[in-house]
Amino acid sequence: MLSREEYLIFGVSINNKYGEDAAEFAYAGLLALQHRGQEGAGIAVLSGNSIVCHKNQGLVSEVFSGEALKCLKSRSAVGNCMYSTHINNTDIVNNVNDITEDVQPVFTEYLTGRIATVHSGNVINAKELKAELMTYGIAFMGTSDSEVISKLIAYHSTKEKSVVNGVKVAAELLKGAFSLVVLSTENNKLIAVRDSSGFRPLCMGKNERGIAVASESCALDTNGFGFVRDIKPGEIVVAEDGKITYEEVVLTPKIKNAGVCIFEYVYLARPDSFIDSLGVYDAKVNLGKILAEENPAEADIVCAVPESGIEAAIGYSQESGLPLITGLIRNRYVGRSFIYPTQTQRENIVKVKFNAMKSNIAGKRIVLVDDSIVRGTSMKIIVGMMKNAGAKEVHLRISSPPVKYTCHFGVDTKSEDVIANKMKLDEICKEIGADSLGYISLDGLKKACGKCSLPLCVRCFENNGEM
Ligand code: AMP
Repeated sequence: MLSREEYLIFGVSINNKYGEDAAEFAYAGLLALQHRGQEGAGIAVLSGNSIVCHKNQGLVSEVFSGEALKCLKSRSAVGNCMYSTHINNTDIVNNVNDITEDVQPVFTEYLTGRIATVHSGNVINAKELKAELMTYGIAFMGTSDSEVISKLIAYHSTKEKSVVNGVKVAAELLKGAFSLVVLSTENNKLIAVRDSSGFRPLCMGKNERGIAVASESCALDTNGFGFVRDIKPGEIVVAEDGKITYEEVVLTPKIKNAGVCIFEYVYLARPDSFIDSLGVYDAKVNLGKILAEENPAEADIVCAVPESGIEAAIGYSQESGLPLITGLIRNRYVGRSFIYPTQTQRENIVKVKFNAMKSNIAGKRIVLVDDSIVRGTSMKIIVGMMKNAGAKEVHLRISSPPVKYTCHFGVDTKSEDVIANKMKLDEICKEIGADSLGYISLDGLKKACGKCSLPLCVRCFENNGEM
């Protein structure tokens, strides 16, 4: 079975004084959030007592390249893009990896209504919940957590005779990282929920037309919705016809040592987003400054690994006084390399993705800054590229501590594949081919993200053994 992790969601509810262009807002929202997932996209809208949905594999612009948006006229919409993890290699090899069924939104009909659900995160008890629902005769079409969540909500909405109460009961049963948005035919409700630890971001914005919720605030900005606030951990917010009608923290905390996934600031989120009171740009620049304080280097220039290392490299340059120079060009049309299932595929894609700027780096001693090392695949190739282009020395500086452990809520690469789990610092440095290697400390990272209003989840760096 494939396990899916979905990374971005957008929902909008427009007042009935205004036009039926919710799907267009959702489209723009998904485009702004495309960096969080590139494998599939979908938008569902309310249409009277029905829900109409268009979804497929591919990028947002590919899935909605034709007339699809024109068929989605409504004042309420939800959308999602998919990024999947834990794909079983044999599924790819046998070419049975048809993921269309797992692309969100998931549509579910129940006795008194219909819902479309989108979610971001990873629910760790989805398998058990699915097995329980199947004992009631509920059938499943795909393998995604989202389908389990949607059917769980539908089941409890029937029992509770209310979709909001159904969402409350269902969300209380879910264990893991989830932010979700449910579109319901019951009074045109748009229901947003964030898990009780707040692992995945979810924020709310408004303008004169209505309310929008999004995984990151950049999707509100680009859509003309003013940022209102982050949705609190364990909170349910309901909007009807463009107005908030209910907002309350109702879910009980279940997971120890939990909080916002630190990888949001380190890698996942866009620098122009604000998550739980902390600007992602500021967090990344602070990480770079503290990295420079903790790990100085005798060098001529600072270079970033684009794009996720750019802001930390700015911070490193500011703190060290070394000039920041472009040392690598990233091909913008190549997506994430780490999600490919085989090591050969991952290596090949990194080679296509980056090229060294020979004219800028030849003969120079370089501080090369990146956000993290997980398997070490990218870094080994990149350092090799820089040396081949004539770099005299490459001093690698990483703006997160060594990633050592798999995390079921975030960085889910198997612990045995993670380079810092297998090797000591000097061994990693040798394996990668760098002249020196330095990571920011965990205390340094916490200091850099000190303005975050929620606790941070750092279990990929320190195994506290607790779930
Ligand atoms: P790697 O080549 O495995 O060291 O990974 C390259 C980059 O991809 C890392 O620096 C991370 O920013 C990102 N990355 C790798 N694995 C994951 C994961 N499981 N979740 C999120 N980001 C990841």
